[in-house]
Amino acid sequence: MTRFPPHLILEVTARCNFRCPYCYCVWHEFPELADRELTTAEWTRILDECADNGVNDLLFTGGEALLRPDILELIRHARRRMPDAKLSLYTNASRLTEELIQELKELRTELSTSVQGLASYAEMTGTRRSYARILRLLARAKELDWPMSVGITITSVNRREAADLFCAVALSGAAAIQVGPTMAEGRARERLDLLLTRKEWEAVKEEIRNLPDAGVPYSFCDEMICECRKQPASFRKRFADPAFLPCPAGKEFGVIGPNGLLRTCLHTVTAVPLPIRLGG
Ligand code: SF4
Repeated sequence: MTRFPPHLILEVTARCNFRCPYCYCVWHEFPELADRELTTAEWTRILDECADNGVNDLLFTGGEALLRPDILELIRHARRRMPDAKLSLYTNASRLTEELIQELKELRTELSTSVQGLASYAEMTGTRRSYARILRLLARAKELDWPMSVGITITSVNRREAADLFCAVALSGAAAIQVGPTMAEGRARERLDLLLTRKEWEAVKEEIRNLPDAGVPYSFCDEMICECRKQPASFRKRFADPAFLPCPAGKEFGVIGPNGLLRTCLHTVTAVPLPIRLGG
């Protein structure tokens, strides 16, 4: 990857106020990928470069992106420089308020979050929080006509409430839901007990597929093909089925980590310097 791909994920901070035991952020295993946090001026420089090079889809994430006091400043700058780009913010929603939702709506910045449990919410986020606030926020965002997309990670801890959790999220007003199994990455590398067996994961998918249709589009993370490497024709054929989505990482999108190194995907750990100078 020599220039920026059209879709970039910006990990604007490695800091987070949650301690999700399944967190797949690469720096839990490879701290050198987040050995410093870029300044406002450096991210602004990156956004300018994106604007000058046809980037048309930017996702601000972390860690927890809302822990950066300048996050709105960065999003405003992105919107000024890229008036037609798709902008999105992924947040754990702990600091999200109605006012912020309204402001982000004005900036045409789509919102997505995670809801990781009902009874298991505190354990799944490593906090003392309850699921109640995030469900209220989902409902309020929908009332404000700016509904949020939701990611649900299924672990051995929350798998028995997966169907209830899916229903709660769908009925609270999620715009779309993506469900995935825990991956043996990041913190989960030390918590392999959180991983599902193939049989357990297929059972979760079946349970969700059999729920009454709440009218909310949903997808399962493992029904995607990775395009970071060459795939055999037979494998590709299976994914010609529109029910399976191709994953465009590496070609269509890339990730800029908290310290400004570039990777092809959220899950890859090989990082290269940006093809631009940040200073000066
Ligand atoms: S999964 Fe997200 S909210 Fe949880 S610790 Fe990791 S960055 Fe924070």
